[in-house]
Amino acid sequence: MLDTKINHQLVEILQTDLLKWFEKAKRDLPFRRTRDPYFIWISEIMAQQTQIDTLIPFYNRFIDSFPTVFSLALAPVDEVIKAWEGLGYYSRARNLHQAARIIVADYDGLMPDNFAELIKLPGIGPYTGGAIASIAFNEPVSAVDGNVLRVISRFCNSFADIGDAKTKKQMTRWIESILPEAAGDFNEALMELGALICTPQSPKCLLCPIRSGCQSHTAGTTGQLPVKKKKTKQLTRKMEVGIVTQNDCLFFVRRPDAGLLSGMWSFPIVETTVGNGQDIKKKLGENFPELNEPIFIGTSRHVFSHIIWEMSVYRFNLDSMVSETASHPYFISALGAPQSDHQTAFKALPQIDDLALPVAFSKLLALLKNAD
Ligand code: SF4
Repeated sequence: MLDTKINHQLVEILQTDLLKWFEKAKRDLPFRRTRDPYFIWISEIMAQQTQIDTLIPFYNRFIDSFPTVFSLALAPVDEVIKAWEGLGYYSRARNLHQAARIIVADYDGLMPDNFAELIKLPGIGPYTGGAIASIAFNEPVSAVDGNVLRVISRFCNSFADIGDAKTKKQMTRWIESILPEAAGDFNEALMELGALICTPQSPKCLLCPIRSGCQSHTAGTTGQLPVKKKKTKQLTRKMEVGIVTQNDCLFFVRRPDAGLLSGMWSFPIVETTVGNGQDIKKKLGENFPELNEPIFIGTSRHVFSHIIWEMSVYRFNLDSMVSETASHPYFISALGAPQSDHQTAFKALPQIDDLALPVAFSKLLALLKNAD
């Protein structure tokens, strides 16, 4: 249970001193020079899994490619995913694209100007909706992210588990009950304090503008807060990956439209219990009726938020088999260009960039290089 029993005087410190500090200390960020909800939306989605300082070049590149909601809506989804390359969690790019299309189709290309409408759009949850509504439209709603949960837990000396959805709801309601008129600035100030001063490790309490009201600082409990109980362990999955090569080209498949890395290009991959390359060989049989025996080239591990892939990687070289099976549609003719369709592609190494290959797979290219 969130403990926010702090008196009016302390609330005033939080409101007034924090805003004064923010006015002077806030970082000059490209999306802070505007109140345009489109730019704020893009930056907030990027900031969900990426540090602000890291995302700036990605943000600038994305905005250069898609300067308006119309340009985003009209772009092919592959182009949007390509522009998102390097940021990970690609479902965010898909949701942006889908939401842009809805905004153009249903809202005449204007971002909805209130929290209730914003959170109907794909990829916009209570945090992002609160951030856009308060920063762009100054609607009195909160935007509670990890930084805010930490700052408020420490300021109020609350030992409630911040991983518990109930705590987040209570904190959201409590912040909304104390929001000053400049709601957007206040939300941003809380986030900025969490990012710059009230950091997870070694908070800079001596520089903190709200230290005089901070209850954990007074109680000496800052190091114990916030409380976040451990989540259940990530599942580990044993996988086999097949890298099919021919004429210096590599074979790729598009992943299903739902689930992990949905709709992205990858090397063929299957879950396995044995791990001797036969499961991936069987899977590849869907595209290549005849294949040589798998050649093991190494292992790789990739950690997602809820799952870990332990991958054994096998190479299948088709060069020696062309003459027997050259009529198969996936084989590259000796003179012709690599064939591809919407779901599969043969690509030469320099063309791989076009595919926006997820890191889980692009890092396997080093194994292939070492095997040559
Ligand atoms: S005094 Fe320290 S613990 Fe309290 S809000 Fe400031 S930085 Fe965080």
